[in-house]
Amino acid sequence: MQTIHTDLIILGGGIAGLWLLNRLRQQGYHAILLETGELGGGQSIRSQGIIHGGTKYALNGALTQAANAIADMPDRWRDCLQGNGEIDLSSADILSDAHYLWSKGSLASKMTAFFASKALKGRVDDISVTDRPEVFQHKQFRGSLYKLNELVLNVPSVVHALTTPHAEHIFKISKDDLQIIHNNGEIAALELPEQQLRLTAQRYILTAGEGSEKLLQDWQVSQPEMQRRPLHMVIVRHSADLPVFAHCISAGSKPLVTITSHPTDNGEQAWYLGGDLAETGVQRSEEEQISAAQKLLQELLPWVELPNARWATLRINRAEPRQSALTRPDSAFAQPVANGIIGWPTKLALAPDMSDQVLNLLQMQGIEPAAANTPIPLPGAPIAEPVWETLF
Ligand SMILES: Cc1cc2nc3c(=O)[nH]c(=O)nc-3n(C[C@H](O)[C@H](O)[C@H](O)COP(=O)(O)OP(=O)(O)OC[C@H]3O[C@@H](n4cnc5c(N)ncnc54)[C@H](O)[C@@H]3O)c2cc1C
Repeated sequence: MQTIHTDLIILGGGIAGLWLLNRLRQQGYHAILLETGELGGGQSIRSQGIIHGGTKYALNGALTQAANAIADMPDRWRDCLQGNGEIDLSSADILSDAHYLWSKGSLASKMTAFFASKALKGRVDDISVTDRPEVFQHKQFRGSLYKLNELVLNVPSVVHALTTPHAEHIFKISKDDLQIIHNNGEIAALELPEQQLRLTAQRYILTAGEGSEKLLQDWQVSQPEMQRRPLHMVIVRHSADLPVFAHCISAGSKPLVTITSHPTDNGEQAWYLGGDLAETGVQRSEEEQISAAQKLLQELLPWVELPNARWATLRINRAEPRQSALTRPDSAFAQPVANGIIGWPTKLALAPDMSDQVLNLLQMQGIEPAAANTPIPLPGAPIAEPVWETLF
């Protein structure tokens, strides 16, 4: 069996692992990334691509820690998208340079007071009727509409932009072939018996999303624990040119529905529906969930017609560090365990924050670039397709 030593091995090529690989290689580390499936194919490419500034978490009127931790993210991503940030994402596509928040008429006064509050200055703008997205210019629209300082990204294009510069350091491995060899609580090596390969590193970084739970079990490490938050998303693919990027809010603190719109390969659009619809729809069958979504859209946007509409649902878990009572974690998470680091960004938007935390941990532990750049005899990893291409 051939043994290859490198500085850092990242397990898992979602947004967290790919962002981190870029940062680490910029710092001169010999870092490689191993992926058992397809790059972005866990949660990342199935996310709605919203780079939150935290405003939706402040809907109860008080800015929580979650809203504060995430507030810097839109500007940080914007710098990258303009080619001036920590990572060059200038080849990635922005689907919308703002996300919107709308309420039905009855909430208008509550919202006005909330958004006028000093705490939200700079995060939310009022907009004139003519500047509204087309869907909200219809005469039947009675509610209030606000523009949030948040972006919506074409996530597959982000995954491409993060992968391309480092493709020769990103490898596909088989889940069944991966063995964690551990000794006194430390990872001694990763072995791939079918490939006759043994990989060692100064630090092993687990960014495998939901897959990190099994990796921790194989390593026989009990902390940190992971939680799953299940979602039942709805996708409607249609031929109207009517992009929507918005949360619809009601009296509760969570959006009733969050709609994002994604281009498809044949020039159609896919509306991707999440928010409370996806959280409360976990108990519904696919048919029940589709009818709940159709009813909700009919109630909220009765003037909208979607020609050639085809509906599908997607069950997917969010993977995060365990919190009490399945609450949302407040910020990105990175925790050292022996010679490993476990990271869950908890949101796509917080991938830069997770990378900062890992870099800080490596610095605190005195991990310096040291390994030689040895070619690794493994195949490259493919990039995942968006669900609106594979489900229909
Ligand atoms: C439906 C949905 C919508 C969302 N919308 C948003 C949003 O709009 N904005 C936002 O900020 N956040 C959003 N999120 C959250 C966001 O998508 C996740 O927090 C983020 O993508 C997690 O990234 P990750 O890299 O940790 O995990 P993942 O993207 O899940 O990547 C993990 C990778 O690890 C690989 N892997 C698994 N096991 C192994 C192993 N043993 N060895 C090697 N590789 C392995 C997987 O194949 C996968 O590619 C959403 C999440 C969901 C589910």
